[in-house]
Amino acid sequence: MVTGRFAPSPSGRIHIGNIFSSLLAWLSVRKQGGRIVLRVEDLDTARCTDAYARQLQDDLLWLGLTWDEGPLVGGDHGPYEQSKRAALYKSALETLRARGLTYPCFCTRAELRAASAPHRSDGQTVYPGTCRNLTAAQVAERARTRPPGYRLRVPDEEIIVQDGHMGAYRENLARDCGDFLLCRSDGLFAYQLAVVVDDAAMQITEVVRGSDLLSSAPRQLYLYRLLGLAPPIFYHVPLLLASDGRRLSKRDRDLNLTVLRKTYPPEAILGKLAYLAGIHPTTEPVRAADLVPAFDWAAVPTRDIIVPEDLF
Ligand code: GLU
Repeated sequence: MVTGRFAPSPSGRIHIGNIFSSLLAWLSVRKQGGRIVLRVEDLDTARCTDAYARQLQDDLLWLGLTWDEGPLVGGDHGPYEQSKRAALYKSALETLRARGLTYPCFCTRAELRAASAPHRSDGQTVYPGTCRNLTAAQVAERARTRPPGYRLRVPDEEIIVQDGHMGAYRENLARDCGDFLLCRSDGLFAYQLAVVVDDAAMQITEVVRGSDLLSSAPRQLYLYRLLGLAPPIFYHVPLLLASDGRRLSKRDRDLNLTVLRKTYPPEAILGKLAYLAGIHPTTEPVRAADLVPAFDWAAVPTRDIIVPEDLF
């Protein structure tokens, strides 16, 4: 059974970029007669709130983007909030640690910024390996002043992601990424670990999400391999850009759902987004369900999409 998911982070009101990828995730699954799970990615407890989580569920339902398993409807793979799943992440981390694949890291953000590490295309830095070979005595010494985070040792190996929409994407983990964090020094588990543990536990077979996460896919595929789990097929979708080429974000207040819901009915928003996605001939209003029969990934652009200023 094809199983897709919505995996929003409730750290603000959702905006049209989130809806755009949710619409494509929903259509791809519905077209194949599959199921959708909603998982609330609220790992970042400092930024995520229950109110935003409830609001985004209300927004998705208002748009007709329904789910078959998750909050409000229940299911066999709960809890559906990452903040309640720490035991699973801990056990995965323990598995990797027992095999000598992780190490404690004491670097602060400031130290990492100061290290002249190369920058990745997504703006992150390649971890220079500062704490990779600390002795047990050095670890004990440093642990007295600061709790460590935990990093995964990555190999000098190219990982190839066969993206269902974008084609092949490759990254050499050692050169392009470096050993990456699985757990932060404050005990919060990293997105990369949590998303793999959860997608596998929830038996997700396809992941449709914004192409800002394409560069995370090699790390995630590698974790699937280490944990002996079956990876999903990834479909990364183009990002929506403002007319000046800037990526739309939660800060673009006029394009978030609070504002849009006051101005348009759901079909009007979906019509505009479906037109941008190449799956609707005009910007005329349309219901999500009416887009299912003709949905075809081949029509969806692979390059980022500028949202014309007069569209919304
Ligand atoms: N929670 C992430 C976000 O809202 C998405 C993670 C994923 O789809 O893998 O950006």
